[in-house]
Amino acid sequence: MNYEPQTYAFPDEAMKPFISEDEIWDAIENTSSDTESVRMIIKKSLSKKRLSLKETAILVNATDPELIEEIKQGARQLKENVYGNRIVLFAPLYVGNLCTNNCEYCGFRTSNKDQKRTTLKHDELIEEVKMLEDAGQKRLILVYGEHPKYNPEFIADSVRTVYKVKKGNGEIRRVNINAAPMDIEGFRTVKEAGIGTYQVFQETYHREAYSRYHTSGMKRNYDYRLTALDRAQEAGIDDVGIGALFGLYDWRFEALALVRHVNHFEAVYNVGPHTISFPRIKKASNVELDEQYLVSDEDFTKLVAILRLAVPYTGLILTAREPAHIREEVLKYGVSQIDGGTKIEMKAYSENNEEQDLNSEQFEINDDRSLNEVMDELIDTGYIPSFCTACYRVGRTGEHFMEFSVPGFIKRYCTPNALLTLAEYLEDYAPEKTRINGYKLIEDSLKDYEDERFKTKLVDRLEKVKVGERDLYF
Ligand code: SAM
Ligand code: SF4
Repeated sequence: MNYEPQTYAFPDEAMKPFISEDEIWDAIENTSSDTESVRMIIKKSLSKKRLSLKETAILVNATDPELIEEIKQGARQLKENVYGNRIVLFAPLYVGNLCTNNCEYCGFRTSNKDQKRTTLKHDELIEEVKMLEDAGQKRLILVYGEHPKYNPEFIADSVRTVYKVKKGNGEIRRVNINAAPMDIEGFRTVKEAGIGTYQVFQETYHREAYSRYHTSGMKRNYDYRLTALDRAQEAGIDDVGIGALFGLYDWRFEALALVRHVNHFEAVYNVGPHTISFPRIKKASNVELDEQYLVSDEDFTKLVAILRLAVPYTGLILTAREPAHIREEVLKYGVSQIDGGTKIEMKAYSENNEEQDLNSEQFEINDDRSLNEVMDELIDTGYIPSFCTACYRVGRTGEHFMEFSVPGFIKRYCTPNALLTLAEYLEDYAPEKTRINGYKLIEDSLKDYEDERFKTKLVDRLEKVKVGERDLYF
């Protein structure tokens, strides 16, 4: 097998690969963590400044339990000071699991003959969306294997189909996608269909590890994947999500590489990525996990706190790959989006499969609670579950950046819109107990509004939701 990366002609200087392994290892190996420097770095982050690679490395290198606790406390404080208590909810929807790649960790890889292959037909896609709407979902991420069938036109068609499905008061207001890298023209095609975020994970930023895990298919090309989001930008998609799959290589390297990817975006496009994902590798059909780089819960929770501090203005996504207790802990350190009611088997929403079958899904999920159960827990712990899609729909892109940098933005837009979408959920989908607790949370949140004129407007819209108006936002 030839593991040499295939060549790719970079159309533009800005699109050249920007990860230097020497630079990252130098930062990890030539920094040490003492209490004073860790505290200075936390302070810098709390003053809303992004951290450099070296500063992130100093946090990564902290091993003293007390210092790690300070890092977690810092992340907690940053989250509370800047973002408040909203959590955005979404659900994944797998459209097709055909795949020509052979990612060693993934149940969809082409060599896995036990995987049942399905591509949702038009009607099946509509059925899945109706079930998701019936549960109260408003934001989806469509997921695809990498296959010639899933070309940009196919993806754009599926996005348009999803937007058209309306059941009762249900509708999907934001469709994000996680799909293989495209060329600039392809990205234009999916942009025209109205995607929200385009998400693609580098999996591992380490070239040699990347070659080991990606042995055939298009995805073998590290550089083509690394520069995918630059092509997306070129096509006008400025709402992009980066990520690494933790467990393929040293987590400290991947954490710094993510920060480097953010720096690249800031330097070239003047705006960072919209979100960062940090999935940990999970069991999958016929996958033998190499344990060398698996990330412990202890390191994982520390990693989330470090990412929060390192890139304070970027959304952090955590999925149902993680069990409820880990999700609960890292929400405190600044995760801003989670999925709820997740099913990742093909057609699982309409067939309502209770049991997971690894041969019909990409990997095992560890939080199989319904959307309402997740909502209950968020409400009980004082988080405001949000289905808000307002910024994207009125053209305020980069909302995480605005939340972070525009004074009062959260109070004027994010929180009221979270409350309005929560009220919609309570009216249309919630059982009695959730309804009571949800409205109590809304009442409590209203107490934070000293500006009586604004509060009156918000209360007025909440009343309109109660009498059947929908999709009201600031
Ligand atoms: N085929 C597209 C691609 O590779 O970019 C779509 C991505 S895939 C359907 C979504 C993500 O799931 C992958 O980018 C990878 O990070 C993650 N993934 C794959 N296998 C996994 C596993 N065993 N455990 C956890 N996450 C996994
Ligand atoms: Fe295919 Fe994506 Fe799975 Fe790789 S991670 S085998 S590209 S679905």
